Amino acid sequence: MTEINLEIESGATMEKVALLDLSLEELTEYLARLGQPAYRARQIWEWIYKRYARSFDEMSNLPKVLREQLKDEAILYPLTIVTQIVSQARDTQKVLFRLPDGQTIETVLMVYDKRRTLCISSQAGCAMGCTFCATAQGGLARNLSAGEIVAQVLFFAGFLADPEAEPQMDLERPTAVTNIVLMGMGEPMHNYDNVWTALRRLTDGDAFGLGARNITLSTVGLIPMIDRMAEEGLQINLAVSLHAPNDDLRGQLVPINRRWKVDDLLAAVARYIEKTHRRVTFEYALMRGVNDSPELAAELGEKLAPLLCHVNVIPLNPIPDSPFQPTSDEDTERFVQILREHGVPATVRLRRGIEINAGCGQLRQASAARRAA
Ligand code: SAH
Repeated sequence: MTEINLEIESGATMEKVALLDLSLEELTEYLARLGQPAYRARQIWEWIYKRYARSFDEMSNLPKVLREQLKDEAILYPLTIVTQIVSQARDTQKVLFRLPDGQTIETVLMVYDKRRTLCISSQAGCAMGCTFCATAQGGLARNLSAGEIVAQVLFFAGFLADPEAEPQMDLERPTAVTNIVLMGMGEPMHNYDNVWTALRRLTDGDAFGLGARNITLSTVGLIPMIDRMAEEGLQINLAVSLHAPNDDLRGQLVPINRRWKVDDLLAAVARYIEKTHRRVTFEYALMRGVNDSPELAAELGEKLAPLLCHVNVIPLNPIPDSPFQPTSDEDTERFVQILREHGVPATVRLRRGIEINAGCGQLRQASAARRAA
């Protein structure tokens, strides 16, 4: 008897409704099935997207019976904090979250003068296999649902809005998430539908309501998906992780380049610019003696000069068991200078939170290593 009960119980847990995965219409339908009027859905929606509620108990204008029923049947928040660290400068916070099935993902908050930028994950792990990236080392576990992507933003929106939140960062409160970059774990274009459902929710004025221009999607360059993004009609910024100007070198750093070549990728970006009239960012992580020579800078400058673009030169975050080392400051400056001489705007991205493992995939890896030890 006990065994059967347990089975039913665990079965019921698996089928809990993930509220953050639902649109307002779907939430309304779900509540109608519970015998609730449409305005209840609207109330819950506002608790989620405007007041960043973490529990049903906070939803004080719902009848207690309904709150209890929701606790039994639905999941509000799919994230539990595993590790939460703030950098010494108190301007970067990284959280490792556990998802309901035990997978872990990372989210990073970076506080600048006026901006509060959130770096979010789109997958648990990643299938792209870039040779210098910590996330790649563990492979892909699974896609995140739209709700799991949105939840990372709601968590930090709630943190920023809450004057009591710990651990403290140097913030003027109250404050809000002003920018989002999809530069955490995963390849957003490899989880296209869920990512775009999340982006629509994050930009919908009735939901989170952040301006699309304040959001950047970073991709390793899945060409068909770049063409698809050009048709979306949302002014999300596009960033492309290039890291090398030719197929010989890029094929070694970014394995997906064997399928989608540099020149074809740049042609897709040109189509995207023609269609959207939007400036595209290229990311280029400088690795000493690998992709940082003046010749490669000139080759990159020539290829990018015709495009409405900007190059974000990233000092490499060294990762364990990797042969790649960062380029010196001097060589970095020289690389940037050559790009500018070719008429290509380029800036060096500041590194943030190095000591808290805030580089892509590093905290998750460190946590797995500790568990194994
Ligand atoms: N999959 C997406 C987004 C995730 S990574 C993409 O490839 O764009 C965000 C950026 O960090 C990418 O440009 C990626 O190449 C870069 N990156 C990964 N590992 C890095 C490291 N060790 N040091 C510096 N940048 C790194």
